[in-house]
Amino acid sequence: MTRPSLIEECYQLSTSALKRSIARCRNASGAVITDQISLLNGKNELIVNYWLEMEGGEPIVTLAALNREPQKISLLTLGTPFAGTRYYFECPECLRRCDKLYLSPTEREFKCQQHFIYALTTINRQSTNGQYLYQLSRKAKVIDKREAISRIWYCGSYTRRYCSLLKMAARAGMTDYVNSVMKIWQDVQASAT
Ligand SMILES: [Zn+2]
Repeated sequence: MTRPSLIEECYQLSTSALKRSIARCRNASGAVITDQISLLNGKNELIVNYWLEMEGGEPIVTLAALNREPQKISLLTLGTPFAGTRYYFECPECLRRCDKLYLSPTEREFKCQQHFIYALTTINRQSTNGQYLYQLSRKAKVIDKREAISRIWYCGSYTRRYCSLLKMAARAGMTDYVNSVMKIWQDVQASAT
């Protein structure tokens, strides 16, 4: 079984790394700018070649990482009153606006963080499934709390906030969820030794 990629294992690409090239591209009235960036995940480095061009007034970047097909990603430009111009990626998977894209060492495409953090929100709140309404409302509380936690993993383990959420989930009878989360943890421990 392949476990879901943890965000901490991914190479991260932030829009700020492309800011200078985007400015050059605009100043050169849309000429194609090519360059490369080095992305890190812990110790490993990944060199990504890219080329940047304008399409309909917005930048488009094509990322070519080692052993992977080039991937074309749209950027959106937004003016901010104090900081000048801000750029966002459009996640190629879900089309959400995001500051950073992530590439798992075992996958082929850059995506936003949504696709790496364990998505408890996929549990169907409407499904009664023989459960008491009380149980459902407890689960809903767990889901709401989960949405408020931005970081579930830190320094090789789940964060304290996330652990307290897991206890709450166990009490609400969400054993499948808790077990799958613990399985990920065990797999990470196993692969680290
Ligand atoms: Zn996405």
